[in-house]
Amino acid sequence: MLVLKFGGTSVGTPERIEKVANLVTAAKGRKIIVLSAVSGTTNALMEITNALKSDDATRATALINTLEDFYNNFSKKLFKTATYQALGEEIISRHFSLIRLLAAGKYDERTGRELLAQGELISTEFFHTHLNERDLKSRMLPALHFMSIDEDHEPELEKISERLQPLIKSLEKYEILITQGYICRNHKNEIDNLRRGGSDYTASLIGAAVRADEIQIWTDIDGMHNNDPRIVNNTFPIAELTFDEASELAYFGAKILHPSTIVPAQKFSIPVRLKNTMDEEAPGTIISDSSEKGKIKAIAAKDGITAIKIKSSRMLLAYGFLRRIFEVFEKHQTSIDMISTSEIAVSVTIDDNSALNEISEELMKFGTIEVDHNQTIICIVGNRIAEKNGVLKLIFNSLGMIPIRMVSVGGSKNNISLLVETAHKEKALNLLNDGLFDDYR
Ligand code: ADP
Ligand code: ASP
Ligand code: MG
Repeated sequence: MLVLKFGGTSVGTPERIEKVANLVTAAKGRKIIVLSAVSGTTNALMEITNALKSDDATRATALINTLEDFYNNFSKKLFKTATYQALGEEIISRHFSLIRLLAAGKYDERTGRELLAQGELISTEFFHTHLNERDLKSRMLPALHFMSIDEDHEPELEKISERLQPLIKSLEKYEILITQGYICRNHKNEIDNLRRGGSDYTASLIGAAVRADEIQIWTDIDGMHNNDPRIVNNTFPIAELTFDEASELAYFGAKILHPSTIVPAQKFSIPVRLKNTMDEEAPGTIISDSSEKGKIKAIAAKDGITAIKIKSSRMLLAYGFLRRIFEVFEKHQTSIDMISTSEIAVSVTIDDNSALNEISEELMKFGTIEVDHNQTIICIVGNRIAEKNGVLKLIFNSLGMIPIRMVSVGGSKNNISLLVETAHKEKALNLLNDGLFDDYR
C-alpha cells in the first residue's frame, strides 16, 4: 500500500487536479490519496472565522460569496459534461449552505473548526467526482470516521489503525482510496484539525496505521532543499535524509513538512518520499533510516522565538537549580527548545509566549530575568555533523560579524543550533549557504 499526499498547490487549479489524477493512476498497486484543501481556501476560511469572531457579519458574507464564486468557476473548468457540472454545483451548494448556516449561528471555537474543515471536504469530493467522470474507480475514506486526537491534541495512532485496517479491507476491490488531510475528531467527537499544514501529518499517520510501503508527499518543489528557498537563492534539493535529520528540519521551520510528519513514519521505518507534482521526473528526497554521515545537509530557521535569561549568584555551585527552573516551564506547559548555561546564569528559548508573564513572575524568585523577543533559531542539520572536526569553525567563519545570542552543540549528533535576532536571519541564512555547501554543489 502507498500513501500519496497532494498539497494545496498540487490541487490548486482544475488542470492540476487532472494531473494529480494521472499521477495517481500511474502509481502501481493500492493507494490512499490524502488531499489538502485547494490552495488559498484554508486562509479564506480562516478570514471568515476571524470576521465572525469579531462580529462582522457583512465581511463574513462577502468573503463567503467570493469563495463560492471561486469554486463555481473551478467546477465549470474541472467538470466537462453537463451531468458532472451539475454534480459539481451540487457539491458546492451543499458545502456553502452549511458554511452559511454555521456563519448565521452563534460563533464559538467549534463552529470555527467545522468551517475550516470544509476546504478538505470540498477538494476530496471534487477529486472523487473528477475520477468518476473519467471512469476511474475510487472510493472515499472519510477522515472524520477514523482520524482522531486525544485531550492533549495528540493523534491516537492505535485507534486510528484499528478503525482504518478493517475499513480498507472491506474496500479491497478499490485501488484508489481518497481521504482528507488535516481534519480529524477530538476527544469530544467534535470536528478538529491537526493544525496548519497538517495534511502531511495525516499522510504519515495513515502510513503508520496501515504499515504502508511508502509515504509520498507531493508538493510544489523538487524535494527538501538545503536551505529555505523563499529566503536564499541557489538552494538545491537533497537526495537523501535520515528520519532524524528530516525531523529536525521540519521541527525547526522547513515548511515543506509539518513539524510532526516524520514521527509516525519513523516509528515503523516507513520511507517518506518528497516529490514535485509540477516536475514528476525530478528525483526529490527520500527520507529513511540511512543517509551519508558527516555531511552538513541543510539549514532551517524557526522564527517567533523568545529567549529568557535567568541570572543568579545562588546558582553558583548549587545543585537542583536547573530542576526548579524547568519545573516552572513544565507547570505552564511550555516547552524549551534551546538551553545554554554558565556558572551564574541560564538562558532558555521558548516558541510559545502564552504563559510568558506567569513564567517570568515565578522565575524572578530565582534571580534577575532578561527577556528578548523576536529571536530566530537557525538549525544546521546533518547525520553526525556535531562529531565532524572543524564544523564549528566553518559555521562561525561563514557568519562573520553576525551576533549570535546562543549556541547549542552536543545535544544531538545531528544538529547544531544558533540563536540570532530575527533581523539578522536573512543575512545569516545567506552567509551560511555560501559558506557551508561549497563542497556539495
Ligand atoms: P503544500 O501546500 O504542498 O503542503 P507547502 O507550501 O506547505 O506545500 O510546502 C512547500 C513549500 O515549502 C515550498 O514551496 C517552499 O517554499 C517551502 N520551503 C521552506 N523550506 C523549504 C526547504 N528547506 N525545502 C523545500 N521547500 C521549503
Ligand atoms: N489546508 C490546511 C492548511 O492550509 C492543511 C494543509 O494544507 O496541509 O493548513
Ligand atoms: Mg504544507
